[in-house]
Amino acid sequence: MLHAPLVAGEGAALSPIRLRVLSLGAGVQSTTLALLAAHGEIGPMPDCAIFADTGWEPSTVYQHLDWLASGNVLPFPVHIVSAGNIREQLAAAGEGRRWASIPAFTRTVTPAGAELPVFDEDDDGELIEIGQRRTAAETVSIGMIRRQCTTEFKIVPIRRKVRELAGLTRRRSPSYPVVEQWIGISTDEIIRAKPSFEPWQVKRFPLIEKRMARRDCLAWLRRHDYPIPPKSACVGCPFHDNARWRHMRDHDPVAWADAVEADRALRSGIRGVRGEVFLHRSCVPLDEADLSTAADRGQLDLFGNECEGMCGL
Ligand code: SF4
Repeated sequence: MLHAPLVAGEGAALSPIRLRVLSLGAGVQSTTLALLAAHGEIGPMPDCAIFADTGWEPSTVYQHLDWLASGNVLPFPVHIVSAGNIREQLAAAGEGRRWASIPAFTRTVTPAGAELPVFDEDDDGELIEIGQRRTAAETVSIGMIRRQCTTEFKIVPIRRKVRELAGLTRRRSPSYPVVEQWIGISTDEIIRAKPSFEPWQVKRFPLIEKRMARRDCLAWLRRHDYPIPPKSACVGCPFHDNARWRHMRDHDPVAWADAVEADRALRSGIRGVRGEVFLHRSCVPLDEADLSTAADRGQLDLFGNECEGMCGL
């Protein structure tokens, strides 16, 4: 249901919002957000939720999504959008084809005296070699590939669907917010809450408004006898910490085998990337990485860098 634009008299508050959309990742926070709305504990009721399917979520996430979208749980529809299959793109990347890069880790060993190409971008943004240089000593460098996946597989398809639902497709965007997008960021991840950079929509973070941390979401779900949602993120996302990889290895052998295979296929041959590519942050093959609890110490939450708040919620 679209909201008719409101016209208010002088001094009254104007609310031109015509569409309220909940960004659903099917993890703990966005599930809690959707159910809070369904219970009337956050309002006004969203018009719909949108889930962007990368095609590479664990089976438990798809089962949870099916339940949420069944029509028996939420009083608003769940739209599922997709820009393709990220796993298939990964396979193509290992063969040197174009991909929407994931934030995988690179390990590059450069011997002393090596001649290295120097790259720049051409007018189309493609990498081109513009010269060469020699190194003075052997160096090992660890890096992370620039992340394009969230934009291509989540932000763009969700944005397209939101504009379609708001009647903005192929139309000039209003210079004021007509869409309210709800994002399930909790207080413990407040660093990820960023304002919209587009004037036609405004972001809202209802869990932060209610001062709810992830543990409060879990407590609320338990209090209401709801299932605890699985962690939502691509099976082979390099942002996973050891605990997540360990859980996958020990409880989801199908996903684990798939991630190990994807990791192997990415090792070399990726356009514009020197060195070897790994899914695990320690830059060793995933099935050889130290996933013991002792190795957990000091791990950064890399999803915290995922500023759009689209992954892992
Ligand atoms: S979960 Fe990870 S791999 Fe998947 S879209 Fe998000 S950042 Fe990219």
